[in-house]
Amino acid sequence: MSLIVQKFGGTSVGSIERIEQVAEKVAGFRADGHSIVVVVSAMSGETNRLIALAHEVQERPVAREMDVLISTGEQVTTALLSMALNKRGVKARSYNGSQVRILTDDAHTKARIREIDDARLHADLDQGYVIVVAGFQGVDENGNITTLGRGGSDTTAVALAAALKADECQIYTDVDGVYTTDPRVVDGARRLSHITFEEMLEMASMGSKVLQIRAVEFAGKYQVPLRVLHSVKDGPGTLITIEDDSKMETPTIAGIAFNRDEAKLTIEGVPDMPGVAYRILGPIGEANIEVDVIVQNVAHDKTTDFTFTVSRSELARAEEVLNKVASEINARKVTSDNKIAKVSVVGVGMRSHAGVASQMFAALAEEGINIQMITTSEIKISVIIEEKFLELAVRSLHSSFELEKEPLDENAA
Ligand code: ASP
Ligand code: MG
Repeated sequence: MSLIVQKFGGTSVGSIERIEQVAEKVAGFRADGHSIVVVVSAMSGETNRLIALAHEVQERPVAREMDVLISTGEQVTTALLSMALNKRGVKARSYNGSQVRILTDDAHTKARIREIDDARLHADLDQGYVIVVAGFQGVDENGNITTLGRGGSDTTAVALAAALKADECQIYTDVDGVYTTDPRVVDGARRLSHITFEEMLEMASMGSKVLQIRAVEFAGKYQVPLRVLHSVKDGPGTLITIEDDSKMETPTIAGIAFNRDEAKLTIEGVPDMPGVAYRILGPIGEANIEVDVIVQNVAHDKTTDFTFTVSRSELARAEEVLNKVASEINARKVTSDNKIAKVSVVGVGMRSHAGVASQMFAALAEEGINIQMITTSEIKISVIIEEKFLELAVRSLHSSFELEKEPLDENAA
């Protein structure tokens, strides 16, 4: 019998009816003899409602008070779920973050977990209790309530699973797993039976809708097996885990990720000399603007065009910074384009398979899609293309890499 941490998100506990459904599910696992720790979010919409209330009172409330307020939603659902379990004859106890003692730093509204005291939890588990813990919250050294950032209940669940050395951390949500790509774009998108932590992080643009990225990082670091499952429909979901070297047939590509939130800036006619990249990107970094893809190439006239992408919401600010830089370093001009998008093929298998890039470029060429920029990592190849070709690109890559087909070894899982 195993120890399982199960996290239910806001939609899964969004009404009394849904809470009863969660209780049914948890009771079933208990009946099978598993030890269970449940982590719950606030009812869907509740955290937003609390934040809106705060802003009615004060435009920028002190972060400490914000945490006292927004941590309350989770306390409600822990108690209701415990009652629903008790009603079914299942012993259950609710705890908030400071009762467990989920110790965090004091960075209110974005605190990081430092340590979890598992003594109390173990004592309850030994006595057969289901433990219901409030997600998203902790307590600092001085007893102040802290919260972990939006979507932080996932991180609570993973951290508890790591501290308790749980056999699995299950994230129940409103999708039944992680897909090869967005099923709204590609009809044949397929649920993956498993994916590695690294791939999951690289799929962030899609994955983040399923799981808080920080939770995935945390799970990878502490090697907590993480499973994404549908909160109502039965099914095996997707297991996120470490790379399994024993598998003969790792599929080369796990999935196709994409991101529309990209804008491109080019500074033309930059004198080609040491230090210019720093003089361009230094001020961008100082302005707290995150840069994604960077391309630079030297022309025969000893100047370079320097191009990089930022998120669309930062474009105006980045352009302002860059115009200043351009005049300082005697560059010719600055141009920008926010009608671009990024498409990536992701897979740990590409480490050992040559030819992924050429297959990707061939598929795009066949559709007449022009590649504006290319960037690669060990397990990902990304291209920047015109936004209007995005869906076509995703579809053609999905079929070129035959992602709609079930890989043979996945039948076993
Ligand atoms: N209730 C919090 C939020 O809405 C935490 C969570 O749901 O994970 O961000
Ligand atoms: Mg949530």
